[in-house]
Amino acid sequence: MIRVSTFKDRTVAVFGLGASGLATVRALEAGGARVAAWDDSEAGRKQAADAGATLVDLASADWSEFAALVLAPGVPLTHPEPHWTVLKAQAAGVEVIGDVELFFRERAATCPNAPVIAITGTNGKSTTTALIAHILRDLGNDVQMGGNIGRAVLTLEPPAESRIHVLELSSFQIDLAPSAAPTVAVLLNITPDHIDRHGTVEHYRDVKRRLVENAQGTAVVGVDDHWCADIAEDLAARGRPKVRRISVREPVADGIYSLDGTLHERTHGHEQETPIGLDGIATLRGSHNWQNAAAAVAAVTALPNGSTYRVGLASALRSFPGLAHRLEIVNRIGSVEFVNDSKATNADSTEKALASFPGNIYWILGGKPKAGGITTLTPYFSRIAKAYLIGEATEEFAATLGTSVPFERCGTLDVAVRRAAGEALDAGNANSVVLLSPACASYDQFKNFEVRGDAFKRLVADLVFERSGT
Ligand code: ADP
Repeated sequence: MIRVSTFKDRTVAVFGLGASGLATVRALEAGGARVAAWDDSEAGRKQAADAGATLVDLASADWSEFAALVLAPGVPLTHPEPHWTVLKAQAAGVEVIGDVELFFRERAATCPNAPVIAITGTNGKSTTTALIAHILRDLGNDVQMGGNIGRAVLTLEPPAESRIHVLELSSFQIDLAPSAAPTVAVLLNITPDHIDRHGTVEHYRDVKRRLVENAQGTAVVGVDDHWCADIAEDLAARGRPKVRRISVREPVADGIYSLDGTLHERTHGHEQETPIGLDGIATLRGSHNWQNAAAAVAAVTALPNGSTYRVGLASALRSFPGLAHRLEIVNRIGSVEFVNDSKATNADSTEKALASFPGNIYWILGGKPKAGGITTLTPYFSRIAKAYLIGEATEEFAATLGTSVPFERCGTLDVAVRRAAGEALDAGNANSVVLLSPACASYDQFKNFEVRGDAFKRLVADLVFERSGT
């Protein structure tokens, strides 16, 4: 745990008592602050009280006593409208920050040169964060990974010069962390998303931009969308921080690009290092993962002693285990691979999955549909051997598939897995894949995408067991 000493002997209001809120309470108290904790939900308050937090009803509290309001990242700061605690804080002139801000202030106060890599972007944050942490661990470093992935940032070990923090940051977390200044900041991409929480795409972009703009050393920026390309251009023109560009569309003069799954690195237009091939790395399939891998390599090598990492990079990439529910290879029966892409809750994500397999895809999809359905996926229909429909989206998706793709209404995931596996195995084609990439939310049949993915994995394990017993 990190002791937050920067509010010692002062009182801090903490609102939102989920995992990160409770960690904040503990970290502040351990550093000598008094904490007034509150949550809108009775259950949240009870859990916090059980964990020893001092509850103070912030609706009737005297705000002049508070040195800061620490807000959980899920609580609206600005859009659709500021949460009532934010309005109270503003009226009383109390600053509103998040746990990531507390981390960066503690680092500034205790170990300002402790290496930190922070990763943001609309898509690919978790994969890139996990990949960077994996590479650095593989190369023998003491690595702490957290933030928007895994552990809340204040539950990690404290910053130290011999320890590297790798932090995934959502735009909500950046919004609440005005002094976040990582050693290396990575901005992967921007597509209009979460606009409900940021009002406009311009505001969303400005929040993401702030992270790379404030990098102490290097900003790694994916330049395949025009928002990020403009940000890279602006930063490069200012001269600080140093900018390394990432592209999977075109060669870049300073940075890393990959047009075919090989990472090429250039400095001032000159090819620098031996290219690294990603071919055959199943956990880094697809050009979206080439973007993630290029960003990870650029970030790791941009650390102060980064050039020493070059030797082991290729083998570290090769041993990346990947993340659960994102093109996760579950098992193989004969020539059929089973892949869990349950995290793909919209057509954009499923497009990445379909683009990663050249053909013979036995595609399980459906659930609670999103606006637009799967109409954007028609260019990939020729790769589909057959589609297996589940959940509420069944009739809408059946209409889109029409006569272009053979499909079957399966209702539930267990039926779909059996049907898809049986037909893929009977067809006996080399390199076929049973792919769960639903292009839908899971809520009609599952609690969340993780539960859906875990159900898929269990069903596949049952199949494997049955077949090994016959
Ligand atoms: P995030 O943490 O930003 O949600 P993840 O790494 O968890 O991102 O990936 C979520 C989904 O986003 C993946 O299943 C994949 O479909 C898609 N994705 C991953 N990386 C990228 C990328 N670089 N560009 C676009 N889409 C991506």
